Amino acid sequence: INLIGNAIKFTETGHVFVSVETRTFANGIVGLDCRVADTGIGIPSDKTKNIFESFQQADSSTTRRYGGTGLGLAISAKIISLMDGEIWVESEVGVGSTFHFTPQFPCQQPDTPAPIEELADRSAFVITCGEQNATVLKRRLSDLGCSTVTAVSLADRPRLELDALDLSDANVVIVESTNHPLVEALFDRFENSDIYQSKQIVILGNSENVDAQERFTQSHIRFLLKPLTHEKFVNSFKPTNDAPVESTTRDGNDTSETAADDVKLKILLAEDSKVNQKVAKGLLGLMGHSVEVVNNGLEVLSKLEHHEFDVILMDIEMPEMDGIEATEAIRQREQDSGNYQPIIAMTAHVIKEFENRCSDVGMDGYISKPIEPDAVKQTLLEVVNKFGLRCNPAHG
Ligand code: ADP
Repeated sequence: INLIGNAIKFTETGHVFVSVETRTFANGIVGLDCRVADTGIGIPSDKTKNIFESFQQADSSTTRRYGGTGLGLAISAKIISLMDGEIWVESEVGVGSTFHFTPQFPCQQPDTPAPIEELADRSAFVITCGEQNATVLKRRLSDLGCSTVTAVSLADRPRLELDALDLSDANVVIVESTNHPLVEALFDRFENSDIYQSKQIVILGNSENVDAQERFTQSHIRFLLKPLTHEKFVNSFKPTNDAPVESTTRDGNDTSETAADDVKLKILLAEDSKVNQKVAKGLLGLMGHSVEVVNNGLEVLSKLEHHEFDVILMDIEMPEMDGIEATEAIRQREQDSGNYQPIIAMTAHVIKEFENRCSDVGMDGYISKPIEPDAVKQTLLEVVNKFGLRCNPAHG
């Protein structure tokens, strides 16, 4: 998690790729080569050793720009050495870094994904924005039973045109959504040409591809939000009426999706990490909420001077003023105003005492990070029901 977090933090464009391969296998012990590769800023060669020491950063100015303590890699190195493994990095400034670590584990029975009936002997065509995803999808589709898989990466063929693609033999077409002209042309084709009616079409997108998602909700085309779990991928090839229509809450009660989907709120999101801001904003936007983002507790207080929100999603650890202090200040102000602002805590602390601390200072709900769409929906719904908030589409 630390390596992936760093890779995302230090990579503005390109990709982060995680892979795990078997390196050694003897006497029931498997040695793994785990890699986290990025196309980020890279690390100068004279720094690739000492970044594994405590409080070391490759470039001290990164603290200002990216934050961080210089402890993550030291802790990772300690853990890997306790697992009889090694950790190292290969890197080139401006090109990217690949962190390797080699833990060892006692072996269990091998567990390869079982082929599924829906893909048996079918032929698939895959169009992705990068070579890595093409390779991964090719392998997944073969494991699931496809007889042939053709994969094209648009990164390698930026000028590829629709006419150059022969999709006629493909029963399954998978497209990773990008703003590439070919993808747009394909989307038009999917909608306007009958031959695609008989094909299974799956679009892989992220929270920024709201347009693609909305465009295909009424059609037979499936839109899958990345990250792509095995289960989600497999389910996308099953008939629609097999797909679960009810979501299950954390405490096991069934809630109707429709009820949660009706709720359209005006939300203030207080969060200092740019990545988390983007993820949470995208997710809440897809759920139909309108979201304003601030970076810390002080900004929350000044925002509330002139604006009203249905709910505040409050990160706990933020610079300048944290979520606990901000909540205390809001509750203090309310003693005079008589108003009440629903506040939901968002934090990576998963211990019960911490949840209690949040409710002690007057928070109304608790979402643990990394945030899960179902948990967010459910917690918002609980707060809506508790405070009788109106479902106000006009906010959107
Ligand atoms: P920090 O909390 O500062 O990120 P780490 O121990 O995880 O602490 O990383 C130490 C330093 O190593 C970082 O400050 C950065 O200079 C460098 N570093 C780690 N991962 C990467 C990466 N993927 N790309 C570029 N630099 C990295």
